[in-house]
Amino acid sequence: MSPSLAVLDRIALFAVLTDGTGVVLYVNEAGKGSLPTAVNEFFSPITLPEGIKVIKCPTGGTGRFTTSVDYLNRVRLVEWTTSPLPDGNILYTGQDVTRDRRNWAVLKDMARSANDTAESKTRFLATMSHEMRTPLNGILGMTGLLLDTGLDGNQKAYAEAVRESGMSLLGLINDILDYSKIDAGHLELDERPFDPSGLIQAVAELLSPRAAQKGLEIASYIAPDIPRRMIGDEGRLRQILLNLAGNGVKFTETGGVSIEVRVDETTENGDYILRFDVRDTGIGISRRDLDKIFEEFQQADDTRAREHEGTGLGLAIAQRIVGAMKGKITVQSEVGQGSAFSFTVTLAAEDGGAARTQPQVSSPVVVATDNDFVRRMLSLQLEAAGVDTVLFAATPKEALNHLAQYPNAPLLCDLAFAASDGGKLAKATSRALVLLSPTARGRLEAFRRAGFAGYLIKPIRQSSLEEQLSDAPQATAARGGMATRLDSPIPSETTSTVGRCRILLAEDNQINSVLATAILKRAGHHVDLAGNGLEAVETFALAPYDIVLMDMRMPEMDGLEATRAIRAQGGTTTPIIALTANASGNDRNECLAAGMDDFLTKPFDPEDLLGMISRWTKNAAQKAQSVTQTP
Ligand code: ADP
Repeated sequence: MSPSLAVLDRIALFAVLTDGTGVVLYVNEAGKGSLPTAVNEFFSPITLPEGIKVIKCPTGGTGRFTTSVDYLNRVRLVEWTTSPLPDGNILYTGQDVTRDRRNWAVLKDMARSANDTAESKTRFLATMSHEMRTPLNGILGMTGLLLDTGLDGNQKAYAEAVRESGMSLLGLINDILDYSKIDAGHLELDERPFDPSGLIQAVAELLSPRAAQKGLEIASYIAPDIPRRMIGDEGRLRQILLNLAGNGVKFTETGGVSIEVRVDETTENGDYILRFDVRDTGIGISRRDLDKIFEEFQQADDTRAREHEGTGLGLAIAQRIVGAMKGKITVQSEVGQGSAFSFTVTLAAEDGGAARTQPQVSSPVVVATDNDFVRRMLSLQLEAAGVDTVLFAATPKEALNHLAQYPNAPLLCDLAFAASDGGKLAKATSRALVLLSPTARGRLEAFRRAGFAGYLIKPIRQSSLEEQLSDAPQATAARGGMATRLDSPIPSETTSTVGRCRILLAEDNQINSVLATAILKRAGHHVDLAGNGLEAVETFALAPYDIVLMDMRMPEMDGLEATRAIRAQGGTTTPIIALTANASGNDRNECLAAGMDDFLTKPFDPEDLLGMISRWTKNAAQKAQSVTQTP
């Protein structure tokens, strides 16, 4: 054997050397071990048996071919490479590819069935969500009609609950339908001119009742150089922002959620790359979960997800929409500290990128708040308004010190301080504004009487803030009507708000409070609202009331504790009536022991409520008279 053939014995491939006519001259060790016995037995000259005969195929030159070979009692697939040698012989090297081929076939099968599954999943979701929408429309539509018929308070609350559950189911179904459409590649952007700052404020306002219910702050910031009008798909941007900020509210228990937008850069052709940041101070997301939350149907940490409803589709949808807008979405998060989702989109400006005009505003401005979130957002908003000096006060006393130094400075006073020290603070400047959460609107009149000149409802609109701080009130009066919701100077009482009685209603359930307010106002009474016991105690301290209607179970401070606090702070003659769903005699005794005067079970008849009010206010008036007449 020539030395060069000996080398072939060391390789794992089969090697067969033939002459130009196909007569086998040599088979290497691997070949002898595995190829048919015939090859082993005859070294030279041999002709390969049936299975391998193909290698004698008249390729004559280079090339690859595969043949099936029967050896070791099994059919194997051997892939051969032909190499003609300079002496006219031909070297065939072969490799057993049976396993590779089989794996490949299995993989192909798997890929095909995965594709089929994905397609049928998309089809299934699209069909199902469509099918579910139809009966759901019926449920929502009929509930709407039902609510327009003369329902009593209880029936109305039940129908409202049906409608609310229906709406949240509709939200889920819409998500699924939307995702299945996007997944099937049907995402088309509808690009038109829109106002980016209006969009962001609207999202914050839409979420603010939900945030307020959890005691969270929500605020927005629009950098001053954002063009007034841009061209893009406003609806899809709203969808992303609602999802991100909605998650923020969902996964945050204390602090707040902010929506911020800035210009990241401008492109060569004059387009704007906008950067949106949605930050929260919530539970955060672990490093391990960060990798998967953008995948469809994924929720971080199952145990937590079960506490929060959702499909796990929102972020997957947001990511795809952002991609279609030539942007990127990223997240940074720290467990226990909060999360910040950021995304960029490229948009064109409509009228050459004209930004908002900067107003003439007062400076300095005193801001009284002990809430870090409010402080950060107000400092951004005031800077954007052009206020160059902001004096922050973390206590009412600090605010009074600032105002002593700048008696003409406007004061922005957070609700907590306005409630505790409103009287003193409002007297220290003629421009005291109280910052109210939407649920605290009912307390406006009390703040007016405490001396506040105006108010801003959170989330604070940039335009309202600028208007309230404007140095030229006459010039801005016309703008006021357009830009303000209810943010404005506090109106003095008009005849429509002068009632027979001044009533403080403490009730945390929004539907119940709307109901009771409607009944009381219709009867000509004036109503101030408190959303929990603590608010009731604070509001009571600000202004006198003829009667207090007190729900029993409320967050932060319940009705019993609030009653004790009101009695302790000197409100001894004002009747306090419990409104409660608990109808047992025990509760009645508890109410009376806490210092309440009477007790009305929910659901109550409007007549009973009004009758009770008139009885108790008359009693109180007689008592007061007899006290003054006593020598
Ligand atoms: P959904 O909220 O419907 O479950 P999403 O795709 O919007 O679906 O979010 C996926 C998951 O990411 C959520 O279930 C949650 O576990 C996590 N997540 C999203 N946003 C936040 C956030 N702001 N804070 C904490 N976890 C979040």
